[in-house]
Amino acid sequence: EAEPGRPYRVVLLGASGVGKTAFASILAGAADSMDSDDCELCGDEVCEKEIEVDGEPATLALLDTWDIDDDQWAQERYMQTGDAYLLLYSVTDRASFLRASELRITLRRVRPAQHTPIILVGNKCDLVRRREVSVSEGRACAAVFDCKFIETSAAMQHNVWEAFHGIVRQLRLRRDSK
Ligand code: GDP
Repeated sequence: EAEPGRPYRVVLLGASGVGKTAFASILAGAADSMDSDDCELCGDEVCEKEIEVDGEPATLALLDTWDIDDDQWAQERYMQTGDAYLLLYSVTDRASFLRASELRITLRRVRPAQHTPIILVGNKCDLVRRREVSVSEGRACAAVFDCKFIETSAAMQHNVWEAFHGIVRQLRLRRDSK
């Protein structure tokens, strides 16, 4: 569980190509020029950043599950180490939406704790004409899966910070209700 001084571990989940690396890069890019070297995205799956949410600092350790899409054991091991999850799909790729549902079910099995902060993220909402998954489908899925929902565009940097801030707020709510 997250304690003061310990970073919140946020795991990025989703099919390949949905924008996980793009999300991590946006968080990584938030670094002051001084400590931007701390965030090694290649060869190290963890990007650690201090951000400010509602006037309070929070340290996020972002784990990207890139490259282990086919390795179920590695994915489940990753899943168990998270405090919170961003479950991504691409609104232009229905298969990735179905994959997100599968991942939610796996998550429930390997991480059965209640009230685990999870946000279902429909990325690439800028690609209007290639959309295959509607906003209402995304929202309905999140309701069934008992998690929050947001549509984002990593390419346009739209709502990506809202997703990071939202996950921190959920983590704090959990912490404060203990
Ligand atoms: P990953 O496999 O989940 O890490 O996906 P990537 O972050 O590597 O993204 C896959 C491709 O989609 C790349 O070419 C990205 O530039 C592109 N991409 C990611 N997010 C967006 C987005 O919000 N909009 C658009 N148009 N392209 C995106």
